[in-house]
Amino acid sequence: MARIGNENCIDCSLYQYREEYPIVKNLLIESSEILIYGMCPGKDEVKQGIPFVGASGQKLNTAFLKIGWNREYLSFANALLCFLPKNINVTKEMIKACRYNLIKTIRSLPNLKMVVPLGEAAIKSVLNKYTNLKIRDYYCNPFKIDEFKDILFVANYHPAYTLYNPSLEKDKLFFDGFKKIDEIFQSLKIVNKKLNHIKVLNEETLTKILVLISKQKQFAIDFETTSLITWRADLLSIHISWESKTAISIPYKNKVNGRIVPFWNDFLMNEIKKTFINLFSDDVIISGQNIKYDSLISRKEFGVPIPYKFDVMLSAFTLDSSRKVNLDALTTQYFPEHSGYSNILDKYITKGKKEDGAFADVPMDVLLEYGALDVDIEFRLTNLFVKELNRL
Ligand code: SF4
Repeated sequence: MARIGNENCIDCSLYQYREEYPIVKNLLIESSEILIYGMCPGKDEVKQGIPFVGASGQKLNTAFLKIGWNREYLSFANALLCFLPKNINVTKEMIKACRYNLIKTIRSLPNLKMVVPLGEAAIKSVLNKYTNLKIRDYYCNPFKIDEFKDILFVANYHPAYTLYNPSLEKDKLFFDGFKKIDEIFQSLKIVNKKLNHIKVLNEETLTKILVLISKQKQFAIDFETTSLITWRADLLSIHISWESKTAISIPYKNKVNGRIVPFWNDFLMNEIKKTFINLFSDDVIISGQNIKYDSLISRKEFGVPIPYKFDVMLSAFTLDSSRKVNLDALTTQYFPEHSGYSNILDKYITKGKKEDGAFADVPMDVLLEYGALDVDIEFRLTNLFVKELNRL
């Protein structure tokens, strides 16, 4: 166990209260894969000199119990290491001054995979942005920062939010948040065992996956974009499947503070482009469902069209022109166990409003999950339809 923080720090105005409220250093477990941090220590924390041991800590313990996390393996920190008296508002200067402790803490944890900021001040601190950001825009929506390219940040509400004016809704939001965060954390370990759907969320995985993709000769591909109108569409994620019940989902761009920006740094964005340009120029068999559109998007983003060989929807229509030909209907017909999977978007998108940019507001984790099943089903349908067509 290690501690980070300087009890003699005078970098912001909070040092004045030091005599009554000593500093609470961040608590690091060197083997931690997860760091949780909030805004500042409370009175119980100051008394014991340990972060998150008061009422907020108890709330966290309940959340950990629900998702099976062992507190002993986690590291805990705060954006401000000093107590914030009730009559004092947190300021940009305070968070900025104390940020180096957070950065040092993250740097000191070699196995860290995920950081969970709790509340708006915690998010501002790590982003080093002090605009009027809203927790709801970051809640369970993974993001990265340039300083730590291999670490995923996934925010939740601060437990204190559930303690002031408690309500069932606030509790649900908080506990559901941790449930989602755990799901994202498990997905970082690459495999969703039931379906083997891989969400590529860190540089190490991306590098390995791009090598794997470049070796494929027959696969289905699917894009998720911001709009159905090609000239204003941005590519949000790429999904590829070359084996039944298997899919790989790669984020490409995402919405941050109202703007669509690359998910990865320039080098990695270029690596993704290069991989797909090479793949599309090889002698490969590619299938898809919205092939004209996806091909135009590929031309727009990568400079080359997708050389499709098999159109899932056209084949479905050829085999039975009387049925409804869309992926939802075909899924229900052929893979009823997945029927209604697109409902996971309902919370974020009004049915029939896909063209208005709403996909950009779907949290990346949800989009990756949705796109993975899309492309997995397309691959499975390709195999089925090829057989059926050969029988004609
Ligand atoms: S809050 Fe941080 S920067 Fe401010 S005095 Fe305490 S340790 Fe120093």
